Amino acid sequence: MVWLFAAIKRHNCTMSNPKHSYPDSWYAASSRLLTAQSSALGDLSCDVCVVGGGYAGLSCALHLAKAGKSVVVLEAERVGWGASGRNGGHVGTGQRADQHSLEKWYGKATARELWRLGLEAVQLVTELITENEIDCELGKTNIHFAAKKSHVSELRDEIEHLRKQYDYDLITGVESSSLEELTSGVGFHYGVVDHGARHLHPLKFCIGLAEAVIAAGASVFETSRVKDIAVRRDHAVVSTDKATIRAQKVVLACNGYLGDLFPPIASNIMPINNFIVATEPLDEATASRINPLNASLSDSLFVINYWKLSEDRRLIFGGGETYSDKFPESITDFVRPKLLAIYPELADTRLDFGWGGTLAITRNRMPDLGVHKGVVYYAQGFSGHGVPTATMAGKLIAAAIDCGNDDFDLISGLKSLKFPGGPLLRRPSLVAGMLFYSLRDRLGR
Ligand SMILES: Cc1cc2nc3c(=O)[nH]c(=O)nc-3n(C[C@H](O)[C@H](O)[C@H](O)COP(=O)(O)OP(=O)(O)OC[C@H]3O[C@@H](n4cnc5c(N)ncnc54)[C@H](O)[C@@H]3O)c2cc1C
Repeated sequence: MVWLFAAIKRHNCTMSNPKHSYPDSWYAASSRLLTAQSSALGDLSCDVCVVGGGYAGLSCALHLAKAGKSVVVLEAERVGWGASGRNGGHVGTGQRADQHSLEKWYGKATARELWRLGLEAVQLVTELITENEIDCELGKTNIHFAAKKSHVSELRDEIEHLRKQYDYDLITGVESSSLEELTSGVGFHYGVVDHGARHLHPLKFCIGLAEAVIAAGASVFETSRVKDIAVRRDHAVVSTDKATIRAQKVVLACNGYLGDLFPPIASNIMPINNFIVATEPLDEATASRINPLNASLSDSLFVINYWKLSEDRRLIFGGGETYSDKFPESITDFVRPKLLAIYPELADTRLDFGWGGTLAITRNRMPDLGVHKGVVYYAQGFSGHGVPTATMAGKLIAAAIDCGNDDFDLISGLKSLKFPGGPLLRRPSLVAGMLFYSLRDRLGR
């Protein structure tokens, strides 16, 4: 494990325009930021206009630019300002939904293809990092803990299924008597160790992707919020306050931040907020007690807790969700009890940073990819699994635009269920459902 002892001060990110700054996260404080890109101005035209500068938009732009397309990326704030610069950095294998569910919903053959695509997505992330020499603290292995006794048999069963039916031998189970070899955390009954998973510094990865996009010849405009997309028969006109872009195709990659920009796809997803804290740097002994393998770690609760160590030995711990458009007044106070329930030994540890982000979920937790009227492609709803799957979605859309792509057809052909209730009632019915399941998390471990 490589430890860096860089002294990181709070508020040390320099911004050319403070109105469009990153949230006060440990990620922003520890990243070399992209040189600020200008806003789009005047009348422009291109083959493809990508809206959204997160993993999905940037991966798409990169693959399109490499295929020789002229590409304009429009980001409302700064690249990586959304979930791609704020997340837990876990790069998990497979899809967000488990293989048993996928087999039940779509049949065994399709489930197998989806598993393959999930593995390829992890590989794509690592290849992009290597090819573009992105320094983003890439690490290996995820450990998933059963937070309730009743979850153990399901996890055991999933391991056996993956090993036998999918020939996936990078995954193993660890019984409760040996869990202290994996963490000093309390309250766990079983561990699933997946050596095929990766983890990384999410904002560094995103900024590295943006630099690769610019190097490949695409134009990236920041502080360029799209206000309108007018779809014509064979092209679209995309407008910001200061620019009008005529494009043969548009790619919408706004995910949890889509808002009411494009109503035809809005009710396929539901935006929810999730929160993370970063502790002060831990001493070496504490850090290796908490995470001896330097893996990414998570638990099996419905509102999942997830954590990992930073290069300077902070614990980056995510936990807790809200379903309104408001964040808690104090994110550190909101997340602290979840952290201490697992690591009571950190009761006196300072929390230096707390931040939140918005992601989009779908009803069956599978990504929502598609194309509207042959002109507007979209990718959203990665349901907390977007580091690999949003990156892959960008590649698939690029391939679909370039010359058609079977994997894009596969994912876009999956039945995506709209959230009931239309724009006004969508949120109350989701909130009721989510609160029910999060309440179950608190009943008996
Ligand atoms: C707290 C948190 C923790 C998470 N942890 C993990 C994890 O550990 N592992 C994992 O796999 N996934 C995780 N996720 C999910 C993952 O971060 C997302 O699925 C992924 O980043 C989505 O990428 P994206 O490009 O689709 O969207 P985003 O990164 O959200 O990018 C969308 C961009 O679109 C821009 N935009 C929106 N509207 C407009 C407009 N009108 N004009 C121009 N630009 C616009 C936004 O400013 C934003 O930058 C987490 C998410 C959160 C919030």
